[in-house]
Amino acid sequence: MSGKNSGLLKNMGIVAAAVGSVALLAWSWTANMTQAPIQIGYYCLSCKKTDHISTYQSNWRQYPGAMSDSVLYCVHCDKGPAHPTNECDQCGSVFILHLFPKYNEFGSPSCPKCDVAYGQAAKVKKIDLMPKALNP
Ligand SMILES: [Zn+2]
Ligand SMILES: [Zn+2]
Repeated sequence: MSGKNSGLLKNMGIVAAAVGSVALLAWSWTANMTQAPIQIGYYCLSCKKTDHISTYQSNWRQYPGAMSDSVLYCVHCDKGPAHPTNECDQCGSVFILHLFPKYNEFGSPSCPKCDVAYGQAAKVKKIDLMPKALNP
């Protein structure tokens, strides 16, 4: 009887450990996200204006129902959504995050230009991930 109980406790311990490590993983992932480089820009899907994140930091209003809590109301037109953007290390293209996201094996956002299949998939959905305003 006591042996059975200790087995159960052991199983519960394993479950608790597993839950703990998942929580830790989720935490370190969000920690990574918030440590994103400061030179991040924002692009508004409504008025197509771009701006530096610092402009948004003083007027941080999360856009409800967005894919990420870093999608905000636009500081220019007050509509939005304004999405953070990312510059590709490989080709230098600037593309929109949290709109039609794809991540590579390192957890970094994939570039719609370098990842041709991804770029194609976005195009099929008529999502412009690399607007001209961001890539003059
Ligand atoms: Zn706007
Ligand atoms: Zn690229």
